[in-house]
Amino acid sequence: MDFQQVFGKPPETQASAPGRVNLLGEHTDYNDGFVLPTAIPQSTTVELGLSSDGHHHFYSENLDEQVSILDINHSPSGFASYIFGCIEVLQKAGYIIPSLSVYVTSSVPMGSGLSSSAALEVATLRALRQLLNLPIDDVEIAQFAQQAEIHYAGVQCGIMDQMASSLADTEHILFLDTRTLERRVMPLPENAEILVIDSGVPRTLATSGYNQRRAECEEAARSLGVKALRDITDVKVTEKLPEPLRRRARHVVTEDNRVLEVLQGVTSERFGELMNASHASLRDDYEVSLPALDTLVEILQKTEGVFGARLTGAGFGGACVALVKSGQSKDIATHVLEQYKQAGYTGKILVPSLELSDAA
Ligand code: ADP
Ligand code: MG
Repeated sequence: MDFQQVFGKPPETQASAPGRVNLLGEHTDYNDGFVLPTAIPQSTTVELGLSSDGHHHFYSENLDEQVSILDINHSPSGFASYIFGCIEVLQKAGYIIPSLSVYVTSSVPMGSGLSSSAALEVATLRALRQLLNLPIDDVEIAQFAQQAEIHYAGVQCGIMDQMASSLADTEHILFLDTRTLERRVMPLPENAEILVIDSGVPRTLATSGYNQRRAECEEAARSLGVKALRDITDVKVTEKLPEPLRRRARHVVTEDNRVLEVLQGVTSERFGELMNASHASLRDDYEVSLPALDTLVEILQKTEGVFGARLTGAGFGGACVALVKSGQSKDIATHVLEQYKQAGYTGKILVPSLELSDAA
């Protein structure tokens, strides 16, 4: 099915946006800290046309599902909530949006931590900007996208995913200060590329674990008399906290410092060491890893051609990211998945995309 087949006429315009993976700076965003995501090759494309019957119609090729919005006072659920949210946040900002036919297609794996949700929002907003000549820049697109996800999809997210999708590309990493939104787009470390492997373990405890860590960080910041843990730069300051707050705060402070070190300019080898240190900190101090993730990371770290590896995303399952020598990611992935299998687990390569390279 394409746009024409679903809606009976060709689209007026289309736009795309990529998914993302966070290379460094994990669990720092809700502490007003620093993150370092990059875009992945997989992207979402949104085609737009004007609807002739006065109602919005959304179709997702991936889900083979169509949703029509017959009552705009009633927010839809599921995938339509992300698109409807983008339309609504623009209307609330004073832009007049006509009734639309929307066709979505994507190569970003859904629900794997590569932010298919932000890719959908940013692609939708880019397409709307184009169709209606909206005077909004890429940062505003990220902000509208975040508002759509919070208020319409009901996900309490930070701004990293949307900023990464809107501002990063696959050749660059995005340094982002999540408090001030100060940012810098930097090239990927030299002679290196990104490998992302799904651990095969679903993120079951993720929500409760995440909420608990957030609360612990707030308590630690309160005890130390700062607005957020981002305001602590010397890790010694955290020593006066009781456990487990001491370990939680130590992770956040050292993780922020690792991201700031990258900002000074580092080699691929050093970048890899910082990723390894990040994983150890997430495992021992922040306690959001699992045996499967530790096993996968250890195999990656021992493999020739890997600069460094760590779990990525909130933890408690999900994916691991590695920085590897250019051109070697597929061979490395094959070797690593084989060893991971011998350890009793079934992983899956998410980046680079095998589908995309087969098509190329
Ligand atoms: P992630 O962002 O890590 O992929 P989320 O749970 O935040 O995981 O977002 C996934 C949700 O986003 C899906 O369940 C779906 O509702 C929506 N979504 C993303 N991409 C698409 C798509 N191409 N078609 C339909 N829905 C999509
Ligand atoms: Mg998401």
